[in-house]
Amino acid sequence: MSRVYNFSAGPSTLPLPVLERAAAEMLDCNGSGQSVMEMSHRSKDFEKIICGTEALFRELLAIPDNYKVLFLQGGASSQFAMIPLNFMNKNGKADYVVTGQWAKKSYQEGARYGNARVVASSEDKTFSYIPELTADMFDPEADYVHVCWNNTIYGTHYSKIPPVGNIPLIADMSSSILSEKVDVAKYGMIYAGAQKNMAPAGLTVCIIREDMIGNARDITPNMFNYKTHADANSLFNTPPAYCIYILGLVLDWLKNEVGGIEKMHEINVKKAGILYDFLDGSSMFKSTVKGDDRSLMNIPFVTGDGELDKKFVAEATANGFVNIKGHRSVGGMRASIYNAMPVEGVQKLVDFMSEFEKNN
Ligand SMILES: *Cc1c(COP(=O)(O)O)cnc(C)c1O
Repeated sequence: MSRVYNFSAGPSTLPLPVLERAAAEMLDCNGSGQSVMEMSHRSKDFEKIICGTEALFRELLAIPDNYKVLFLQGGASSQFAMIPLNFMNKNGKADYVVTGQWAKKSYQEGARYGNARVVASSEDKTFSYIPELTADMFDPEADYVHVCWNNTIYGTHYSKIPPVGNIPLIADMSSSILSEKVDVAKYGMIYAGAQKNMAPAGLTVCIIREDMIGNARDITPNMFNYKTHADANSLFNTPPAYCIYILGLVLDWLKNEVGGIEKMHEINVKKAGILYDFLDGSSMFKSTVKGDDRSLMNIPFVTGDGELDKKFVAEATANGFVNIKGHRSVGGMRASIYNAMPVEGVQKLVDFMSEFEKNN
């Protein structure tokens, strides 16, 4: 067997021990004589899986008791509509910080349902930074403030929580969830698609403060109402059962093999440091993001020469460093180094980049 180093932004690499365990349990999970894919979602066997996954998720992120954890489908993109449908319900206004394509899509969807306002944007410089945010910028009448915590395409990440006062803060953490500690109590809601740092595509996890649930607009489809899923403990209809099972294995790995979120964060700082240090010292490769706004998960970089970028991507791919081509809106390369990317994968990439620099 030969496995590549996969730098894909999503779906992305999963921890090898998780894949091995899933393979071992494929035909007979926990003595049930069936694969999780074949199980009734109403069975005792699956109840153990979904409850165990939720308990581990709560434990690892230290989620307070007054927050619901929901396992939904429809991707993070469905949240862009569910959020205004459920929460733009008092003054019909919401504030959005636009720091990338996902943040912009979320804003555009919000604008279809009410008075959505762009508080600040970094589009002027290809979203290469997080705008400075001050308390006076937010509308105290906004029903919520929406931010994208880690900008997957542009490689930026907030270094502090925006000063939103009492307005509920909603964060898309699709590409940073479980990579760092989060003070959940500072948020009204956090959500994340699973396919970046948690599990296969098909699952979206939402963490919502309980008092925010239950005031959806009348037109809200049942399936888009958080109350529907909160009341049914994510079993209103068939949940993405296999994804929830894999998330459980990933969380178990994170807790018992890695040693928890803080340890994971330390490793992520180390991994990103290896790549940023190299980029800052290189005369060929340059990081597209500066200082405090740098993401630990997604690291775009360029040579400044489109042909050289192409050559690098081709040679990297041939050497087993795959999915490293940058997003078309930034160009160049992007290394997504989520939790499951081992330190050695980043070290080997940097060795390869250094070799490439010498030869070109
Ligand atoms: C990938 C991504 C999305 C879109 O996720 P889907 O599950 O494909 O809808 C949204 N926000 C961020 C930050 C992402 O990285």
